[in-house]
Amino acid sequence: MHELNVLLFSDFLFFISLYQGHALCKDCFYTTFETEVHHTIISNKLFEKGEKVAIGASGGKDSTVLAYVLKKLNEEYNYGLELILLSVDEGITGYRDDSLETVKRNEMQYELPLKIVSYEELYGWTMDAIVKQIGLKNNCTFCGVFRRQALDRGAMALKVDKIVTGHNADDIAETVIMNVLRGDIARLRRCTAIVTGTEGAIPRCKPFKYTYEKEIVMYAYFKKLDYFSTECIYSPNAYRGHARTFLKDLEKIRPSSILDIIHSGESLFVKKDVKMPVQGICKRCGYISSQPLCKACVLLEGLNKGLPRLGIGKTTKAKIEVLSSGDCGSSQHADEDKSSSAKSLEF
Ligand code: SF4
Ligand code: ZN
Repeated sequence: MHELNVLLFSDFLFFISLYQGHALCKDCFYTTFETEVHHTIISNKLFEKGEKVAIGASGGKDSTVLAYVLKKLNEEYNYGLELILLSVDEGITGYRDDSLETVKRNEMQYELPLKIVSYEELYGWTMDAIVKQIGLKNNCTFCGVFRRQALDRGAMALKVDKIVTGHNADDIAETVIMNVLRGDIARLRRCTAIVTGTEGAIPRCKPFKYTYEKEIVMYAYFKKLDYFSTECIYSPNAYRGHARTFLKDLEKIRPSSILDIIHSGESLFVKKDVKMPVQGICKRCGYISSQPLCKACVLLEGLNKGLPRLGIGKTTKAKIEVLSSGDCGSSQHADEDKSSSAKSLEF
């Protein structure tokens, strides 16, 4: 790799390496980017030869770059992986329908098969319908819980060995900060792990754990990858937004802040006598859960009973009892109750 002292050279583009402050030409930037992702994959033993891997694909820059780079590395380094794009359709008109068109184009461009699972098919609710009922507060709580489970259910249907997601270093550092602020020890412990979900769930890997968002944006832009960059129309996710702003401010003063926070998160350990949630199985849908009902079933039950707020916040025994009992009054979606539970079981 040749380093250059010139920063800009008309048609040739040069980048300041985010790590060492060195200038790199476009091709060297690509090589550095891909080699670092390869190094992350190899040094963390993310895959084994012959594995079937689902790439969580939203059409956004992170997952598009992930699909492109993983396919490239799989061929160049002979990982021997069978790659599949897996998308979740949350049912957000004017956002997800458009971004899924991008994923469908990626399916052709990268010659990777694509499976789409939808909230409507799994839960009987689209995010459009949920927002109509609950408004724009807490909508991301429903969406996040449902997406996590939808991705797992899609992956189970595909019988994959692993799921990879495009979470980058900035995302992980934000999550560390959010979990510290919330005092969420269980999440804090696992949010920096490069592989999660090994206890009974399909393992999820984050090959971009050490990749800055800026690098991904540059890679996608200069490689002219086809990705979707519009924000979700229901995105008032203020809490993460504040964590993001805080992180950007820190980064201005100390450029290594993002990786420093990830390393701090990795170094934290939980004292032996701290009570941690015990993983079990949701008695309704069979998904892993530390409560008798998983969070998705609690949220779904609240929606179906016309009590959507009951599912928000900590899931207590009392809440589960209310949600499990049949006497909370009828609701506009009461008829969908049984069918959507059955849908959860089917998948
Ligand atoms: Fe879902 Fe919220 Fe993300 Fe929109 S911003 S896709 S509602 S989690
Ligand atoms: Zn459940």
